[in-house]
Amino acid sequence: MNMTKVYTHESIVNLQTAKGLLVSNGIDAMIKNEHMGGGGYVGLAIAPLELWVRSSRAAEAKGLLDQAFTHSDEQSAQWVCPDCQEKNFPNFDYCWQCQAAKP
Ligand SMILES: [Zn+2]
Repeated sequence: MNMTKVYTHESIVNLQTAKGLLVSNGIDAMIKNEHMGGGGYVGLAIAPLELWVRSSRAAEAKGLLDQAFTHSDEQSAQWVCPDCQEKNFPNFDYCWQCQAAKP
């Protein structure tokens, strides 16, 4: 079975969150290096932890993870101009590029 690495992070908490997200969407996921930390130490492992899924589901998994992890609060608060699709900061009432009103 071909596997593809879709996410890597040094925190087991993030990995387990990511795995839970994928599993709840019907995508089997496995964590590699889960036990590399050793000594029962939970938290930061020595080796970055890796999340792997079947290659056939990799694109789908990456999409879900992108949505969940790549949007900081600041980014998600930005609004997209309906006229020119430019992203604007939440404190702007008009698009900085084309001056369209905030929707
Ligand atoms: Zn605009």
